[in-house]
Amino acid sequence: MHGQRFRCYPNRGQEKTLLRWIGCQRFLYNAKVREDRYFRTFARKALSLAGQKPPIDQQYSHFIGSDTEWLREVPSQVLRNGAVRWRQAYGRFFQKRAHRPTMHGKGGEQGVWLTRELFAFEDAGAGGYQLRIGTKKHPVGPLRYVADRPHDRPASIVISINAGQWHVSFATEEDVVYPRPAEIQAELSQWDAGALHAATLGVDRGVVVPAYASNGTVYAFDPVQQRRMARKERQRQRWQRRMARRTQGSSGRHQARTRVARTYTYANNVRKDLAHKASHALVTTPGIRLVAMEDLRVSAMTRRPQAKTDDQGRPAANGARAKAGLNKGILGSVWGRIKTYAQYKAPKHNVLFLLVPPHHSSQECAVCGHIHPDNRPTQSRFVCQRCGQTDHADHNASRVIARRGVSAVLGPCKTHAQPVGAVRPEPPSADGYAGGDHGKSQTGPRPPAHGSSKPETMPTTASAV
Ligand SMILES: [Zn+2]
Repeated sequence: MHGQRFRCYPNRGQEKTLLRWIGCQRFLYNAKVREDRYFRTFARKALSLAGQKPPIDQQYSHFIGSDTEWLREVPSQVLRNGAVRWRQAYGRFFQKRAHRPTMHGKGGEQGVWLTRELFAFEDAGAGGYQLRIGTKKHPVGPLRYVADRPHDRPASIVISINAGQWHVSFATEEDVVYPRPAEIQAELSQWDAGALHAATLGVDRGVVVPAYASNGTVYAFDPVQQRRMARKERQRQRWQRRMARRTQGSSGRHQARTRVARTYTYANNVRKDLAHKASHALVTTPGIRLVAMEDLRVSAMTRRPQAKTDDQGRPAANGARAKAGLNKGILGSVWGRIKTYAQYKAPKHNVLFLLVPPHHSSQECAVCGHIHPDNRPTQSRFVCQRCGQTDHADHNASRVIARRGVSAVLGPCKTHAQPVGAVRPEPPSADGYAGGDHGKSQTGPRPPAHGSSKPETMPTTASAV
């Protein structure tokens, strides 16, 4: 890692803690090296028979056991960063920039890589910073360092010791090597369909809730936000009318224009917030390695829904009210943002993000693959006309998308669904998986429990081979 490097001066207590952190991170790194060697030499044959390749992941919890209790005495992020460092070293190897990672010895320069959860820059007055190390549970305190030239606040730092001298290096984002999507895809393409399916999240972006994941998690605005956005929208329309009535160039018109602009800010912040939380939760869901979304054309999604009639020819509910409930622009930009954010966050968490073809995903049965408009009697219900599967419509769609994601990685032949007709409704499992559920509201309707012939709960250790 390059970037700026300054001398720092930890006190006695800090030295002791930092040396322990350095040791634990090195232990984790070396454990990953040893594990990889084992996989590549002894287990290679057996694994290749099972159609799986050794995992190049950043799992580390299995290294903490009764004989390594001392690892619990350092922040978990220090350990995780040891595993991530190893994974990054492997990334450089794949990119032909370095050799395969090897054991780190105890000689020479020793360092610990700290990410944002482990340090903070606090304003120290006069435009200066103070660098504080540690977490709430493991505080280390302010670390004195001498910056001989100005610097930015870095994304991560390395604190190192060599020959009794301490240094702090400020790494920039570019120094960090994340796996490329093609590498992750190559890895996942070795998996068998069942394992990959268990590690896949399909995400349906819909009009009632902005995003519905195939593990049942709903990413939606909370009611307060919705009310406020609706109010701001009314204010915007009012001020826009006023602006139109006022004379061009007048101060009144200028004021109206400012008010119009201001009404956009709240909704803007709310959807940015939702998109960040949803995308983060999606790509950090435990055990998930593949996140699939539809390649949407937003304009088609926000078009008015087709009029429907019931069996007596009277107009029936067609979801127009649900669609009208959220402003087009709000929905459109949330969908786009969730996609964009998930796309760039996924590789940082060693997750593959894929866009899959959107055709008829709302009318396709996630169980038997039957596609028909009649499968969708109402906006929120899905009833397969062939196999009888019933589900919440958005949940069914998210499962269809997950299946398409798996097909995109493995090829269609391996992933086809169970034989048609052989469906015996099983008792539903608890679908309310709450992992990665970061403070968003669960306002969306739950998938109906009965009759769902293949309830999807995500095993949390799916990718740990
Ligand atoms: Zn079906």
